[in-house]
Order: sequence, then C-alpha cells, then structure tokens
Amino acid sequence: DSQYNFAMFIDEDPLSHHVAVKNITSLKKKLDGKVAIVTGGASGIGEATARHFANHGARAVVIADIQDEKGQLVAASIGAHRSTYIRCDVSDENQVKLLVDSTVQTYGRLDIMFSNAGIINDINQSILELDFSAFDRLFAVNVRGMAACVKHAALAMVEGGVRGSIVCTASSVATILPLTATPIHTDYIMSKHAVLGLVRSASARLGEYGIRVNCVSPSGVATPLACNTLKMTAEEVAKTMEPKIYLKGVVLTTSHVADAVVFLACDDSEFITGHNLVVDGGFLPR
Ligand code: NAD
Repeated sequence: DSQYNFAMFIDEDPLSHHVAVKNITSLKKKLDGKVAIVTGGASGIGEATARHFANHGARAVVIADIQDEKGQLVAASIGAHRSTYIRCDVSDENQVKLLVDSTVQTYGRLDIMFSNAGIINDINQSILELDFSAFDRLFAVNVRGMAACVKHAALAMVEGGVRGSIVCTASSVATILPLTATPIHTDYIMSKHAVLGLVRSASARLGEYGIRVNCVSPSGVATPLACNTLKMTAEEVAKTMEPKIYLKGVVLTTSHVADAVVFLACDDSEFITGHNLVVDGGFLPR
C-alpha cells in the first residue's frame, strides 16, 4: 500500500547464513505525527489535501479559510480530535501570524504549511482592460498572502528548530509556453509567476535551517474557483481540458494534486527544495 513506508531491516545471520528479515510489520504513515496548516482548506484543492494529510497520519490539520461554515464542516468531518478550523484572511499579515501562533500554541509545533488560498478575477483582465482595484485585491491574496504564510510558517519552524516543509500552490499558467497563455487573466498569470519567485528565493534563505520550500502547479481542475470562472460544470471543465492534455484516459482531480502535495510535504522528498512540481498530464502547446 503506497500509504505506508515499509521499514525492512535485513541482517545476515552469522550462524546459519540465513537472511533474517526483521520488523516488516513496522508500518509508518508518511505524515505520522505531523502538524499541518492548509490555507484555502475549506474547498477544492485545499480541502482534498487536508483530508489526504489526515489519511496519511498527520496528528493535526488546521484548516484556514474565510468560508467559516465550509471550513468548520471540513474540520468536523476529519474529526475534532485532529482537525480545527481557524478563520484567517491571508491578505492580512496579522491574521496569518495569529494563525501560526495559535497552531503552535495548541499543537506544540508546525511541520507543514500548505499555502494554497487563491482567487481569480472573473472580469476580463487582459492588459488593455486591466482594472487595478481588482488587480490589487488579487495580488493581496495570491502574492502578499502567499508570502505572509511562508514567512510566518518559516519563523515558527526556525524558532521551534523544526526541519519543516512549506508547499505553495502556483499554477500551470506560470510554466506553459508564452503563446499558450490565456490573454484575459493577466493579473492571475502574473501572480502565479510571483509564487515561483517566492518559492525559489525563500528556499535559498531557509535551506540552512533544513526547511524546504516547493510548489505544485496544477492545470485546470474542477473546483468552485475553476467552475465559477469558466461558468461550467465539473464535467464541462474536464471536457474542455481533455484535448489540451497529452495524457489520455485520466482526468485531473483535486486528489491528484493532493498526492503531489503529500509527496512534497513528507520525507519522500527530503532532498527536494525550490522545485515546481507540475501536475498537468502534459499540457499541449496551442
Ligand atoms: P477553491 O475556490 O475551491 O478554493 C480556494 C479557497 O481559498 C476557498 O475556500 C476560498 O474561500 C479560500 N480563500 C480565498 N481567499 C482567501 C483569503 N483571503 N484568505 C483565506 N482563504 C481564502 O479553488 P481551488 O481551485 O481549490 O484553488 C486553490 C488554489 O489552486 C488557488 O491558489 C488557485 O489559484 C490554484 N489553482 C487552481 C487551479 C484550478 O484549475 N482549480 C489550477 C491551478 C492552480
């Protein structure tokens, strides 16, 4: 079962020259005992990842969001003994600091920050129409909010002597070839390029503390964000993406993205930092 790390210790038996296989029953889940925060955890990719973290053995999963009812429901369904909801608008640095501080106060440490909260403007934001109040609101969440989460998670990890893992959500729009970019989401595309810069710069600064910083870049996946922006059902989003993807016979789900985040969060990626893990099935140039 891929959920488990099998610890096998193989010893030569000096008397019989038989190989003794010991301890094969020592099963350890990938995130055993870890304390994690998931921003944007009330919905979509964040919700799926919060559930994955718990399934992989996390001791505590703190759901941070501004959708209180949904966030509380996700935490309750994971289980009150290992998940709590904290209201946090990531665009406000003070709220991010309080989120991290109260997590450390309650659970003793912070091992994983999944900085994932993000928004997209549903108006035409091509360069000729760019509305700067919408631009500023988007940057406050997608760029400043992302940086605030990385900063305060890192401070808590440095202070606690924790070799933690920070994972951010960028997007395939930050890696696809120039002319495949969609012209109407200029502010969103700019913000996701900024996430790559944040991950690269922060990983360089935090390496000496053993703290890793990486990001995932999914292509279009049917979440409320994607469905509302495209004004499509989940099935229609999948149908729209299908011809643009090399890999056939599989549709990207939030669970695929959560699998990639778990990989970056756990020790399987112990030597990986500053990396952008693209989860797009091979995105076709136009
Ligand atoms: P979603 O709308 O389902 O989830 C986003 C969550 O972030 C929501 O619960 C929302 O309430 C929360 N949020 C928004 N503003 C916030 C704020 N200021 N503070 C705290 N929480 C806030 O959408 P999703 O698709 O799961 O998006 C998650 C991340 O994935 C975003 O960063 C998005 O840009 C990125 N992404 C999405 C896709 C896609 O196709 N769905 C593709 C690539 C990247």
